[in-house]
Amino acid sequence: MRWLCPFTELQPLTRDALLEHAREGDEVTFVNVSHSARAYPIAVQELWEEARDFAIVEHDIVIRDDVAAAFHDCPEPYCAFPYEWTTNIGPALGCTRFRGLFTYEHRQAIYQASGHSWRQFDYALMRDALRGHAPHLHLPRVQHLNDAQKLVDPFAGWTVAEHLAAMGYQIDNPDRLTATYFGGAVFG
Ligand SMILES: [Zn+2]
Repeated sequence: MRWLCPFTELQPLTRDALLEHAREGDEVTFVNVSHSARAYPIAVQELWEEARDFAIVEHDIVIRDDVAAAFHDCPEPYCAFPYEWTTNIGPALGCTRFRGLFTYEHRQAIYQASGHSWRQFDYALMRDALRGHAPHLHLPRVQHLNDAQKLVDPFAGWTVAEHLAAMGYQIDNPDRLTATYFGGAVFG
């Protein structure tokens, strides 16, 4: 499975949890989307068009082992873990997994939504383009870091690529920071 982490400010807890819980053979991609309001929708569109299973974990969401297990093993086509927002708790795009068959069957939905900026993108995709297809919800909710929880990065000064290499990932594409974890002693 592929994991997409679109970031403007990648949180260390988010990064470490994703790298820790991704399974052997998974592909984890951190995409810097700060250069354009449409970079996030475009990054999602690229994966959507491949019609392969993928998950989105936004830059301040902290996953757990049960999240990775659910995203791998749940047979439902469209799954989400809810998290807290300022005013509510619910599912949004920040912790979702789409099966490739679902994205293939709903390939028009991504074109309908990806013209929006990142601010409207999750609404445009989930509530509008995929209207009538509620995500299969998993509990408990995932942690959405608030400002107080955003810790100082012990690896400050390291690039994401350097961190990935240190964690035992092979960098497949330095421009996109695509990396594959092949297992090994790093987390053992
Ligand atoms: Zn599910």
